[in-house]
Amino acid sequence: MVADVIVETPDTTTLVLFTGNDRLEYLAGHFLTIDPHQFESLQRFTSFLEDLKGRREPPRAYSMSSAPHERYLAVTVKEERYVSNVTRYPPLLSPLLVKRTLRGMRLVVVGFTGPYTLAPDVASRTNHIVHVCAGSGSVPNFSMLKFALANHPTLRHTFVYSNKTWDDVIFRDELGRLAVQNPDRLKILHTLTRDNDVARFGPNVRKGRVDQALLRDAIGNPEECLVYVCGPGVSKFDLAAAKKAGSPPPVRFLESVLADLKALGVPDKRIKREFYG
Ligand SMILES: Cc1cc2nc3c(=O)[nH]c(=O)nc-3n(C[C@H](O)[C@H](O)[C@H](O)COP(=O)(O)OP(=O)(O)OC[C@H]3O[C@@H](n4cnc5c(N)ncnc54)[C@H](O)[C@@H]3O)c2cc1C
Repeated sequence: MVADVIVETPDTTTLVLFTGNDRLEYLAGHFLTIDPHQFESLQRFTSFLEDLKGRREPPRAYSMSSAPHERYLAVTVKEERYVSNVTRYPPLLSPLLVKRTLRGMRLVVVGFTGPYTLAPDVASRTNHIVHVCAGSGSVPNFSMLKFALANHPTLRHTFVYSNKTWDDVIFRDELGRLAVQNPDRLKILHTLTRDNDVARFGPNVRKGRVDQALLRDAIGNPEECLVYVCGPGVSKFDLAAAKKAGSPPPVRFLESVLADLKALGVPDKRIKREFYG
């Protein structure tokens, strides 16, 4: 049951879920899935899109923004937009979850799974975790960050977070609060791609995309940190469109960050990645 609906930004909502009194076993970074077929209000769109696409609409994955030691389960969903002449089909599920889900509504979620997690022995592998996220890619990292701050006292974190504008920063206040509470263990570096006057937001807010210079500052010793990268990557739809047009696929956040990390000498085995298609 949806116990609370928290508006994080104009297009992003956290759904706090009450699942009964049993303690739920999941790892920070895990996701659950939500099947669009369960929503009667979506039924005509689901059927129409299935007719157009010629295949059944699959369940959508959502990472937990809550951490395993917290009382409630929560997911945080960013609404996908339909852009005329750019987006092939209107997004199906995220608009409903973000804009039309009310407290008290019931929904079926299936979980928990996914390889993008904080390993239980993480503290024996490093003392520095670098989070590199864009948009809703911060969701699993936010869970890992909260869990690690509470349970792995030897770990410090650098949280690099890219958004379009300051108002798009999900968990902005909570990240700020965590940084104040853990001054020696958490540093946050924001970068804004569509804001020209970032100085007014403070010294830890930069302009532009995540680039090599920003990552160099964040990483320190590339042989010692563990990097968790999460955000949009080149989707199978991008690849198909590029092939059809005879052009190279676009460079998206994930591929660009991975190339920069390689150039900076971070060993591949020290990088964990989650792709949000
Ligand atoms: C492991 C994982 C975890 C995730 N966690 C989160 C999270 O915590 N928060 C979050 O907000 N999101 C998360 N996502 C993304 C989420 O699963 C959905 O993809 C997102 O919400 C969009 O779903 P939708 O139904 O609104 O859009 P969709 O209907 O899936 O459409 C999305 C885009 O794909 C295009 N598209 C769809 N089908 C086709 C097709 N057949 N051909 C061409 N183009 C097509 C659409 O035009 C649109 O641009 C996660 C994804 C993964 C894989």
